[in-house]
Amino acid sequence: MDLLYRSTRDSSVQVTASQAILKGLSADGGLFVPVEIPALDVSLDELAKMSYQETAYAVMSKFLTDFTEGELKHCIDSAYDEKFDTPEIAPLVKADGAYFLELFHGSTIAFKDMALSILPHLMTVSAKKNQVKNEIVILTATSGDTGKAAMAGFADVPGTRIVVFYPKNGVSPVQEKQMVTQKGKNVKVIGIHGNFDDAQSGVKAIFGDKDLAKEMDAAGFQFSSANSINIGRLVPQIVYYVYAYAKLYANGEIEKNEKINVVVPTGNFGNILAAYYAKQMGLPIAKLICASNDNKVLYDFFQTGSYDRNRKFVLTTSPSMDILISSNLERLIYRIAGHDDKADAAFMKSLSENGKYEITPAMREKLGDFYGNYATEAEAAKTIHDLYDENGYVIDTHTAVADCVYKKYQAETGDRTKSVIASTASPFKFTRSVLEAMGVDCEGKDDFALADELSKLSDVAVPKAVEEIRTAPVLHDTVVEVPDMKAAVRTFLGM
Ligand SMILES: *Cc1c(COP(=O)(O)O)cnc(C)c1O
Repeated sequence: MDLLYRSTRDSSVQVTASQAILKGLSADGGLFVPVEIPALDVSLDELAKMSYQETAYAVMSKFLTDFTEGELKHCIDSAYDEKFDTPEIAPLVKADGAYFLELFHGSTIAFKDMALSILPHLMTVSAKKNQVKNEIVILTATSGDTGKAAMAGFADVPGTRIVVFYPKNGVSPVQEKQMVTQKGKNVKVIGIHGNFDDAQSGVKAIFGDKDLAKEMDAAGFQFSSANSINIGRLVPQIVYYVYAYAKLYANGEIEKNEKINVVVPTGNFGNILAAYYAKQMGLPIAKLICASNDNKVLYDFFQTGSYDRNRKFVLTTSPSMDILISSNLERLIYRIAGHDDKADAAFMKSLSENGKYEITPAMREKLGDFYGNYATEAEAAKTIHDLYDENGYVIDTHTAVADCVYKKYQAETGDRTKSVIASTASPFKFTRSVLEAMGVDCEGKDDFALADELSKLSDVAVPKAVEEIRTAPVLHDTVVEVPDMKAAVRTFLGM
């Protein structure tokens, strides 16, 4: 029996894994969730001996049951190869009493690579499986990292095209340069005058446009999403929590079945939801610590049970977390609402109409696995500074938010459970902010000079991803207003 996926807003919609991957979002606007979370039925001693790729198969095969062993292994091996600069794929680094799970060793040096290097393969296999003849058009809004990682994954993959929208003034210089220099005949990068939420809402509107869908079909195209709402993104992210746990055990850092905490710098709620799913599979995780920056909607939500996006959007030095609508939270809402599609749909309607919703006391009681807090800009900077000063280890601005919140959690609760901190980007992706936090004067120096400086200070080589864009020509310079996003897509598709 295949594991099926149903929409959070209409339980009668049930699809296979490959269909969910192709669709991205359900037609009713809901997200696909597995009907049940499968158990991790491999012993810890076996997991401890596995490579990253083997762990990926052990986990993903439980979720993507309509993929054959050969298909899934092909996807895994095509994704987790030399694109990563270490055979460990996701190494654990012990520093300052915590374990940093470095998820940034892929081609764009941010954790989005963990899922986006495999998604194109999952998608092309899914298309074949479902006799899709149309060309698949990936439409994505990015707060900086997703866009580049998606393009790197999809560039020149036959049968696909990809359009990426990003907030023109809301990403780091390195992030922007990475995107606008992207090669590939099938890729298009477009800046918008607006913030990430504007980009995401615009993309959602295009996805939901039924007339456009018909026209597209006639022209031989169909949309899919590479955003973190796609279960083809979510499922590969569960893998590294299992892998990290097995490594801690294999290295003698924890006892068998000892519970650990997981700390995740959170934006769209995808990464932490993957950790939650890992826990549901049976991985011994105690607390899921959700770290926010000054856009602390999630912290307020965990404090009060009220999700309220009606507030000022703050641009921070951790731009990939500058998000007021955490799309993946809907999967958790659906679950704590007792898999009630009507209730979930009503919350989401309230969110889109009033910018807020309030969950019931019974639902709040089911949030005991989570702890939320946030770090201000000054606190995050101090965290980078102190960690470097005391341990010589340099972390990026997003990971700093997580480490800061982890320390707040420890101070508040006295809980000394061993903890894995998801380290979501290389410090070389946010060089200026990182160096400034370390107390280096960056005035008048360009980002590449700064990368060289960071390399000296941290004793880590400048990553290939940064070296590559030093001299790469700008290939994309389109910038549009939010209402013109749809027209821009049409133009790119020649419609
Ligand atoms: C995307 C991203 C995040 C947030 O992850 P979500 O899954 O959206 O919560 C955190 N840090 C970095 C560097 C990212 O790119």
